[in-house]
Amino acid sequence: MEVITSIEEIQQLAHRLEKEGKKIGFVPTMGYLHNGHLSLIDLIRERSDILILSIFVNPTQFGVGEDLEKYPRDMERDLELCREKKVDYIFAPQTDDIYLQGASTYVSEEGVSQGLCGEARPTHFKGVTTICAKLFNLVRPAHIAVGQKDAQQVVVLKRMIRDLHFPIEVVIGPTLREPDGLAMSSRNSYLNDRQRQDALLIHKALQAGKLLVDEKGVRNVDRVKAELMTVLRSGSFVRINYAEVVDRENMKAEKEIELGRSMLVIAVWVDNIRLIDNILLG
Ligand code: AMP
Repeated sequence: MEVITSIEEIQQLAHRLEKEGKKIGFVPTMGYLHNGHLSLIDLIRERSDILILSIFVNPTQFGVGEDLEKYPRDMERDLELCREKKVDYIFAPQTDDIYLQGASTYVSEEGVSQGLCGEARPTHFKGVTTICAKLFNLVRPAHIAVGQKDAQQVVVLKRMIRDLHFPIEVVIGPTLREPDGLAMSSRNSYLNDRQRQDALLIHKALQAGKLLVDEKGVRNVDRVKAELMTVLRSGSFVRINYAEVVDRENMKAEKEIELGRSMLVIAVWVDNIRLIDNILLG
């Protein structure tokens, strides 16, 4: 496994691989890897000749007062995990090389990135689309793997890839969870024991909502949302940002639940730690 930090080197590599007719599979991450990240590597391994994973804590997707400085980092451990997973190349650029002095060009998606996380974090998705467009230009992947855990991010990236004609196939990996149901996230490392107990309510709420739909046949959105709220409100430290029923293709609020199309999405703060999760219905 080779670690590349320079822009020039990754461009040369991508160019060489392209000339050799090799298909690149790419997993963009912010590091502090967990099994959710590693499952994405497995997901695109068979369709790719070469696997590249990026590790870059992208400053532009953090808002003012968010956790950029304290975002967890452990490059040595990440590299070891990637070596074990037989990743071919790690791309871990410096912030100053990605965002050049005086840079004034951004990529923003203006439809599906509105609402939900886009409302609570107004600059977040512009940061995500900007860094991903840069990474796609540098790495030139044929396939990328992204996690369903970040449902709105998936929809935003698919839209950007389509709108900007990136020749990239998007492969979506299911959400990996801890044994108790908590969705794996680098941010889980912030949680102390009592916060973690409350964080578990997110998955419990999603399951309670899904149970109403799957087993009780409920199709009324308000009824399901009320159930999500009741479970979430049983926690002492949970502040609800949103608990919604949306269309998984465009993240718009649903009026009626439709199996195979609707999705339950939740974002909460447990104290000041923001956590998101979702579950597909049908
Ligand atoms: P991040 O490092 O948080 O930017 O995440 C990098 C990629 O891993 C994104 O595509 C995420 O959606 C995905 N991911 C994060 N958590 C999980 C999880 N629990 N299961 C599967 N994929 C995940």
